[in-house]
Amino acid sequence: MHHPVLPTALALCLTAFPAFAEMPEGISHFTLPNGLETVVIEDHRAPVVVQMVWYKIGAADETPGKSGIAHYLEHLMFKGTDKLEPGELSKTVTANGGMDNAFTSYDYTAYFQRIASDRLPLVMEMESDRMQNLKIGEDDWQAERQVVLEERAQRVDSDPRALFSEERDAVQFYNHPYGRPIIGWRQEMEGLTREDAINWYDSHYSPNEAVLILAGDVTPEKARELAEKYYGPIPAKGQAEPRVRPQEPAQKSPRRMEMHDARVAQPTLIRSYLATERNPGDQQRAAALTVLSELLGGSMQTSVLGRELALTGKAIWVGAGYDGLAVDPTTFSISMVPAQDMSTEQAEQLLDQSLAKFLETGPDEDDLERVKTRIRAARIYARDSAHGRAYDYGQGLATGLTIEDVNDWPNILASVTAQDVRAAAQDLLTSDATVTGWLLPEETQQQAKSSPAQNRAAKSARPVPASRTPASDGDRPPLRPARNATTADEVQE
Ligand SMILES: [Zn+2]
Repeated sequence: MHHPVLPTALALCLTAFPAFAEMPEGISHFTLPNGLETVVIEDHRAPVVVQMVWYKIGAADETPGKSGIAHYLEHLMFKGTDKLEPGELSKTVTANGGMDNAFTSYDYTAYFQRIASDRLPLVMEMESDRMQNLKIGEDDWQAERQVVLEERAQRVDSDPRALFSEERDAVQFYNHPYGRPIIGWRQEMEGLTREDAINWYDSHYSPNEAVLILAGDVTPEKARELAEKYYGPIPAKGQAEPRVRPQEPAQKSPRRMEMHDARVAQPTLIRSYLATERNPGDQQRAAALTVLSELLGGSMQTSVLGRELALTGKAIWVGAGYDGLAVDPTTFSISMVPAQDMSTEQAEQLLDQSLAKFLETGPDEDDLERVKTRIRAARIYARDSAHGRAYDYGQGLATGLTIEDVNDWPNILASVTAQDVRAAAQDLLTSDATVTGWLLPEETQQQAKSSPAQNRAAKSARPVPASRTPASDGDRPPLRPARNATTADEVQE
């Protein structure tokens, strides 16, 4: 039923038959001889088309000491080629009524444009040009390094939540590069050079390490013709390398941390757990975790924690977050903003009690059905736009899934049982691979310092189930260029 990872040769062979039986309507898939995997999502409701190129390279592939290079190169990709002046690609897209952007994550770096469908050849010509002919001028690289440093200052250094998230990731991962910020540590970003950028580009920007998605008003025949014309002549740079990153050892110590910041108004508790990700041919556990996250914190009104903590006035906000689209094990997190004046100790006890109760009684069947319906509805809504489906396939293929895995996912989600959720919750919430973090206002720091008993009590409360995933931090949002901040929301569609 589920397809194991196909060796490349077999995958190429299979994709030669466009009418692959399980392919959903409107979706087709082929791979060019140079290794560029292409997915076409046909949707003629509007005369608009989206082109996305996803490179299977991201911040987690950086070498130690060079954090931020993936995102820095993303910026430099707008610096032009022999044919394109710096900035000309974006200007041309805008002048033709379209929009473009790019984003960097741990596992991929993606570039996209949305434009009237008769302009598709124009954006494909420009995108394929910078896949092989990027020029980074002597003047450009230092100015752009300032831009990414400024982006860090704005998005991270001036935001206590972002700083807290960065530190929690660093504590969560002992060894895996998911513990480093995508944007980079400041002192390492300051040392990035033009040579670093060129090396990164030369080693990783290649058709056999990329996925092309064409979604919208384009036929599969036309898409293939254009892909062959623009991307076909680009030679692959050697063999695609397997993405082998340092992995986590067994984590035996639950960790605790707190951060204080004068800019924080309300204490926030975030607990994260190391959790498995979606893997080729093996997505059942990730599906159960997806359902678990919705069950625990998907809605303030109807979720388990919403009912127990928010509706009863014990918390101002609760949430849970998990996104299985990652190359390596990721995090599941639970977050809580306790009611005004509640001690951190009491808040944690309440959360732990709710989780312990959930572990005992397991999911209620009605809850489970409601949550699955919600997930299904959200997916149908997302899939209603060609742009949304482009994300499903782009992100899936860029994180190592096959097109069949992406196709199978809704059915795997729908088949999750109460027993699956219970097993996933049991493994997750009793794990020691956790970080329990508090983001606190400045004055709470003084209270905490004067009350060591509180810290001891919190520690001893540990055997409780702890699923902790902060909605906003657990899902490591991709970074997008600040220069296009106004269009960045498009990424969310
Ligand atoms: Zn940026």
